[in-house]
Amino acid sequence: MQEIPEFTLDQLTGRVRDHLTELSDPRCTLHKSAVAPFLAMRAAAAAEGIDLVAFSSFRDFDRQLTIWNEKFQGVRPMQDRAGRALQAGTMSPAERVAAILWWSALPGASRHHWGTDVDVMDLAALPPGYRIQVVPAEYAAGGPFAKLTTWLDAHMHAYGFFRPYDTDRGSVSPEPWHLSYAPVALRAQRALSPERLREVLAGVDIEGKEEVLASLAENFRRYVLEVDAPPAAATAAPRLS
Ligand SMILES: [Zn+2]
Repeated sequence: MQEIPEFTLDQLTGRVRDHLTELSDPRCTLHKSAVAPFLAMRAAAAAEGIDLVAFSSFRDFDRQLTIWNEKFQGVRPMQDRAGRALQAGTMSPAERVAAILWWSALPGASRHHWGTDVDVMDLAALPPGYRIQVVPAEYAAGGPFAKLTTWLDAHMHAYGFFRPYDTDRGSVSPEPWHLSYAPVALRAQRALSPERLREVLAGVDIEGKEEVLASLAENFRRYVLEVDAPPAAATAAPRLS
């Protein structure tokens, strides 16, 4: 396998793009080392009638910061763990931080900054006029992406991919659509630390900063480290054809 350089702090936190490749077909932005395995997996899925595409791939720091700040301010909808709407104005800063983290990552701590992580769906399975809601039921038996889920369960590990938010670990909400390229993502996860993240967040205009920094060590452990680990099959050299 090709040599993968260590991540810089700017790369880990999505503030630069020099670790990435932009693809136009299918449209997505991935870590350079994840491109060939992703395209190989997509080609294999296509042979089974699945049009595997990423509806979200790399996301930069500023985008994640905007999402965070708008949720904190109540400009963007915020939900509890059952998906019920919350009113930011009635909540303490600590309650807002906890509520946002169930659904969204702290800026600088999103796996989407790494270019290794993609949110996928099967374009071939979309009923006409259907708008994807991005809920687990769509990926479960009876949902439009049930076939995609079954196929990924059987084949994605061979291409190096796994689901970091597969089970409900009391941290991030389960996301059956979120895949991660293990050989590179593991390196990114090891390279990021609460201290390095603090260095970045201390210098930006983030809503709830005092609370964010005070709870950083605990939230880092809970939301960044507490994810499902890849099986050994996904960390070996990936299939490229
Ligand atoms: Zn995702």
